[in-house]
Amino acid sequence: MSNNTVLRKPKWLRMKIQGGENLNYVQKILSKYHLNTVCEAAGCPNRMECFSSKTATFMILGSRCTRNCTFCDVTSGAPDLLDPHEPEHVADAVKALGLQYVVVTSVTRDDLPDGGADHFAKVIKAIKESSPEALVEVLIPDFKGDRDALQTVIDAGPVIINHNIETVPRLYREVRPQAVYERSLELIRRVKELSTLYSKSGIMVGLGETFDEVIQSLHDLREVDCDFLTIGQYLAPSKEHHPVVEYVHPDTFAKYKEEALKMGFREVASGPLVRSSYKAHEMIHG
Ligand code: SF4
Repeated sequence: MSNNTVLRKPKWLRMKIQGGENLNYVQKILSKYHLNTVCEAAGCPNRMECFSSKTATFMILGSRCTRNCTFCDVTSGAPDLLDPHEPEHVADAVKALGLQYVVVTSVTRDDLPDGGADHFAKVIKAIKESSPEALVEVLIPDFKGDRDALQTVIDAGPVIINHNIETVPRLYREVRPQAVYERSLELIRRVKELSTLYSKSGIMVGLGETFDEVIQSLHDLREVDCDFLTIGQYLAPSKEHHPVVEYVHPDTFAKYKEEALKMGFREVASGPLVRSSYKAHEMIHG
């Protein structure tokens, strides 16, 4: 999907200065243990801030995804072989970095019978074994709606199960064609049916949705008892990706947060540079 008219970035999206001692140290550890992070894969603007406050989002199950969402910078294609050492490598990196809050996400592996749920569980358990004080949040794919796969991840004992709806249902076909809006909502509902864990979801704006469509999606999330919410500005990784239709004003993000808190979300992070795991540790501590 290419676009000819590229919108000029507004001042509120001027990126923070990257680099710094902590960033280099974290990157050294990540390469030592052959680990991917979505922070690096997606070139997240917040990684300096997150790494220096000792949070990072590990991306497991390889670097290639079996899906092809048009907003995502992760490579799509034939997936990598599972690395049986990945759980211990992630746990070793968590220990080496002294991370107190760890977010684990993954590419989507529709090629695996359980979508990679067992591997997710092994990573969570390995982290908890070597860093018992660390809290683990998982940002999971939809496992094609597989209930047992979700139960496997729940049983490993993360503190939060995060699954992004990403956008409003009208835009699914052009933004995340292999996903199903209702299936994603059902996964979030099941977190509460199958466990006492917190649930969390996130949505990007600026893809062409209307204010009312976003508000409706927030109601849909509250309908399935979602606890935590992130809302951030979509930024196109390249001209080949879905175009940015709008740079949403910070006042609108504030309005979304106000409405979401009124609906009963426990905590909401809403702002142009907010990402799924942004300040994740602060959310749970309220
Ligand atoms: S499923 Fe996730 S990792 Fe795969 S293309 Fe979509 S957003 Fe990217």
